[in-house]
Amino acid sequence: MMLDYNSLLLALGVSTACLAVTMMGSWLVRRAETVLLTATVGLVLVVGGIFVYSAYVNRPEPWLGVGNFVLFHAGFATIWGAGKQFLTGRLSLPGIATRALAAMVFSVVPMLSGYDGLAFIADNLAIALLLFATARQYWLARAEAPAPILGIAALYTLTGISFVLCAAVLISDGRLVLGAAPSNWAEDLSLAVCIAGMTGIGALSLALHQWRLAARHRLDAITDPLTGLLNRRAVFDEYGTRPMGTTTAVIVFDIDHFKSVNDRHGHAAGDHVLKVFAGELTAHCRPGDTAARLGGEEFALVFKETMPGRAELAAERIRGAFEACEIPIDGEMLKCTVSVGVAPGRAQPLDFDAMLSAADKALYAAKRAGRNRVELAGHLQAVPSRTAS
Ligand code: GH3
Ligand code: MG
Ligand code: MG
Repeated sequence: MMLDYNSLLLALGVSTACLAVTMMGSWLVRRAETVLLTATVGLVLVVGGIFVYSAYVNRPEPWLGVGNFVLFHAGFATIWGAGKQFLTGRLSLPGIATRALAAMVFSVVPMLSGYDGLAFIADNLAIALLLFATARQYWLARAEAPAPILGIAALYTLTGISFVLCAAVLISDGRLVLGAAPSNWAEDLSLAVCIAGMTGIGALSLALHQWRLAARHRLDAITDPLTGLLNRRAVFDEYGTRPMGTTTAVIVFDIDHFKSVNDRHGHAAGDHVLKVFAGELTAHCRPGDTAARLGGEEFALVFKETMPGRAELAAERIRGAFEACEIPIDGEMLKCTVSVGVAPGRAQPLDFDAMLSAADKALYAAKRAGRNRVELAGHLQAVPSRTAS
């Protein structure tokens, strides 16, 4: 070997430490991403374990071996915890603790009993299991960003396999007592795999973190924060230039006398009413329909593939359902209504803007006719003069 084992071990320790620092830096920038902190803690424990192991290689005393096991098992269990947290969004401290303790018991007990060979077999198998379990968390989360996640899962699996090989060589040697750190081809291979794996996992994890942030920003940009519906921009992004034919429909809603809800019960009560209405809207959506808050107390529903007549029916159902809602505010039951304008698609396709202003015109007809009703824009001919959108 060109470089001796201990130098490579130190190189692994230093590169892992650098990765821990990078992870912590990313966490400091966005404290809400606690998964980065979990990963940092896991890496720091592993780094500690690497340096203790390096000491053990030079001076194979049981307490150093135990120190290595404790740090490694706590570290890899925490890294598993970060994977789990990435998948579920929640940190499971009991899950980490039970895995770390189980791994420790099986290797610390034989180490303290003088069976260091047995201890390292258990140690390698425990780490392999933790790495496979970590790979599984990413595998389960792969839909979010297949390329980097599958890369991470593959690298954890490969690293786990290298630990299985270490255990296998020790088992086939069959020596329960070694008196020194295990030294064989599997150990060398495993160290090389760890150096490559750590670098790859580190780079992919940071890429994945950026990926997740970018996706969240994209989602934020098209979501209305109050109701969780799509916002105006999202609807125009989706339908802005699309010709809308017979199978489509645009429905617009405007809550009646909404200003007086705010005036009488406060802005928070108004917000609550908006959420209730958004709930009614989504409850009447089918897959493929678009429900959006256009702004204020104005909402829209866009059907891109629907049967003739369904838009009018849906509009009437939503109006009725909202009228029937009893919204608890300040101990009393508030009742609200909504006016609706429907622009069903026609044989000669219109662009979305034109459909929307046709629906808007119908909406204002509904307002003029006394509110709490649905009006149809069926009689409209050519592209109507555009109102500001
Ligand atoms: P009409 O029946 O004619 O529609 O009467 P209206 O009072 O609903 O009409 P108007 O458009 O004048 O009032 C809309 C009100 O909606 C004015 C504004 O204060 C309120 N509003 C707009 N956005 C929000 C919001 O996010 N939360 C709350 N609580 N109120 C909002
Ligand atoms: Mg309005
Ligand atoms: Mg209104």
